[in-house]
Amino acid sequence: MNNDRRFSRRGFVGGVATALGYLTLEPSSRLWAQGVTLGRGSRVELAADEYDGLAKLANNENPYGPSDNVMKAMTQAFKYANRYGYPDGGITEAIAKHHGVKEENVFIAAGSGEILDVACNTYLRGGRKILSSEPSYDVIFQHVTSYKADSIKVPSLPDFRQDIPGLIRAARAYRRDIGFVYLCSPNNPTGRIVTQQEIKQLLDGIPEDMPVLIDEAYFHFVEDPEYATSIPHVFEDRPVMVTRTFSKIAALAGMRLGYAIAPTEMIRDMRPYTTGTISAVVKYGGVAALNDADNQAKVKRVTLELRKKTTAELANLGYTVAPSEANFFFVHVRRPIPPVIDEFKKKGVLVGRPFPPFMEHLRVSVGTADEMSRFLTAFKAIVPQARTASKVG
Ligand code: PLP
Repeated sequence: MNNDRRFSRRGFVGGVATALGYLTLEPSSRLWAQGVTLGRGSRVELAADEYDGLAKLANNENPYGPSDNVMKAMTQAFKYANRYGYPDGGITEAIAKHHGVKEENVFIAAGSGEILDVACNTYLRGGRKILSSEPSYDVIFQHVTSYKADSIKVPSLPDFRQDIPGLIRAARAYRRDIGFVYLCSPNNPTGRIVTQQEIKQLLDGIPEDMPVLIDEAYFHFVEDPEYATSIPHVFEDRPVMVTRTFSKIAALAGMRLGYAIAPTEMIRDMRPYTTGTISAVVKYGGVAALNDADNQAKVKRVTLELRKKTTAELANLGYTVAPSEANFFFVHVRRPIPPVIDEFKKKGVLVGRPFPPFMEHLRVSVGTADEMSRFLTAFKAIVPQARTASKVG
């Protein structure tokens, strides 16, 4: 097959049209001052009490909230709320220690999302493009658009695994155009991992000087023994960085803290593009969260149990779910999802936004037992029971 045909037209050949397509996406995860955006293109302001009553399965958050230890650390740090020059709780040191790396290789930011933005600002200058799989975390493509850059998207395989040989071919074919490779594993929205062996295959196959960002936002939820962190690749004398977040397993999404483990040269290049604005409170919370392995193990166990239970029920109803290793899943509802999402909203259940071109797949976050039961009740009412399972995830 001609290599070019494997690359998404919408992402590269489609150029400006694609860029505009992504530009029009309304980030559903954006919380407005006193309200919340309920989904793509439908900004609805909600009062806090209305928001609290919803089943929030749209943003892959941790529904249990920060642990007692983390809350205690953050509460104590409030005494610095009036300061600029506050101590930072030793967050960079704690992250470095957690991974067994040097502090100079730790780059913290207000969420790992900020690092994706900064990476685009740093590496997509001069018309360079991002190389990624499709589907993947759409916010990166929105950043790409806001920097008037473009994406080369390699379609995932029919089972939603990322096409590593396809990414390698694209990296080689468009070598001069590519600013960096973005690889999300487990991938959002599918939940599928890239194995340790596949990461190695990718890195061995692409030009050694091509920057790579491996997004491990959902690292903590993976069970598959073929998966491993890519942090060791950061120290192979090539521009590879790995991003992590405190928003998922540590339940600090609203507090904004994430980091990259990266070579010092990459950190030096990216530093000018960050604001460095991270709250005193979350720095202390982050340190406590790193010491909170027991709580995180509990969150993982409960989340995976509920994911398995819910997806088994969907399978019984005849719906196919991509095999997920994260705190969300991607179910094929076999009908256009924008109206389905609206129907869920009417029933007080927020579910994920569309991830074009998969307009019949719904991304659902794993919430509490109560939220999952609300989801299933709504699902049965909204999506009539199928007689036969669909063939492809
Ligand atoms: N990367 C992925 C794959 C995500 O799904 C998210 C959030 O949903 C982020 C990064 C951003 O996380 P945060 O900015 O909260 O650290």
